[in-house]
Amino acid sequence: MNTLQENDWLRVVPLGGLGHIGGNMMVYETAQDLIMVDAGVLFPTTDQPGIDYVIPDIAYVLEPSRRHKLRGIVLTHGHEDHIGALPYVLPELGAVPLWATPFTAALIRNKLGEFPDVVFDLQVIKDRQKVKMGAFVADFLAVTHSIPHSAAIALKTPIGTVIHTGDYKIDDDPLDGRKTDIEGFKAYGDAGVALLCSDSTNAERPGHTLGERVVSRTLEKIVKDAPHRVFLTTFASHVDRMQSVMEAARLAGRKVIPLGRSMQQNISLALELGVLKVAPGVLAEASDFTTLPRNKVVVLASGSQGEPMSSMMRIAHGRLAPIVVEPGDQVIMSSRRIPGNELAIGTMVNHLFRMGAEVIDDHMAKVHSSGHGFNDESQQMLQLCRPKAFVPLHGEFRH
Ligand SMILES: [Zn+2]
Repeated sequence: MNTLQENDWLRVVPLGGLGHIGGNMMVYETAQDLIMVDAGVLFPTTDQPGIDYVIPDIAYVLEPSRRHKLRGIVLTHGHEDHIGALPYVLPELGAVPLWATPFTAALIRNKLGEFPDVVFDLQVIKDRQKVKMGAFVADFLAVTHSIPHSAAIALKTPIGTVIHTGDYKIDDDPLDGRKTDIEGFKAYGDAGVALLCSDSTNAERPGHTLGERVVSRTLEKIVKDAPHRVFLTTFASHVDRMQSVMEAARLAGRKVIPLGRSMQQNISLALELGVLKVAPGVLAEASDFTTLPRNKVVVLASGSQGEPMSSMMRIAHGRLAPIVVEPGDQVIMSSRRIPGNELAIGTMVNHLFRMGAEVIDDHMAKVHSSGHGFNDESQQMLQLCRPKAFVPLHGEFRH
């Protein structure tokens, strides 16, 4: 075994993502090099009126003694709380290399495309591809989450291997077949892991997350048995859920009308990258809504969190004519209530009931599965990696 030299040290500095859920940004620093993992926004709480996003403070990285050491930013997946701060931090950091898997990279390209002044250097990598960044070597390991191509990072550092899981769950039968790379984690565990930084969001929830396949079967049954229209709302980046909706509609002889800019954009992107497969003739346009029989439609709408301008909220307020909910229609809330959004979601659901809809949520049927592993999955990750040190990520203090 090599003995550590005086200059062999690793500093781990969370600039966001610990003690709260969101704004993920971790710095790994050695004597010569520094990399960042993720650059996310934190969504404001109700006591921060007028604030759109909270952006991590990168003053630590910008210090003159340190700035020249920055070798790149690794992005674990494409959720806003992991990539949303890029347009705001890149102008200060310069065009450092950004490393991401294909779907994450596509979302980053879309996002940065809206900021023409931001110069960036985006590198697309594959699972198990190793990237050298100064003294670091980052290896990208596949994980299942709630967005395609999520990755954990195994980071070779002068003091040993660090595993940074990013957001993950362990779904043994994911719809896209891309499983959490158990073998990869185990191999690092066998060789010795110095530090594990692991997603702790659902550490308090006992057992194992529901498989996405179970959600898929539930949706198939609801859509098949529905007497009239079905409306379903979920996160606009949840491609697996979109896949389940497309399949449920196809089996029931229905067409899917996607609503909402982000939903439509992400469907196009997912189709382009081959992570979403839709049978010919299943997709329809909003303009088809009035001509299709009521029992031949599934409306896939953004707005699962009751966002004021979202399609589902506008439907609930009767402000998206001719798209309307009528008595006997079903509305599936295929998502969780993110803490802080309960009031808006509750109002939306009440409006939908008032219109005569039957609203089904994850308390009533298995219509949603979390993207963050439960207690059993956290334990499995610990057993695979058997680290010398452990830092819980992506949680509040209770986690
Ligand atoms: Zn995530």
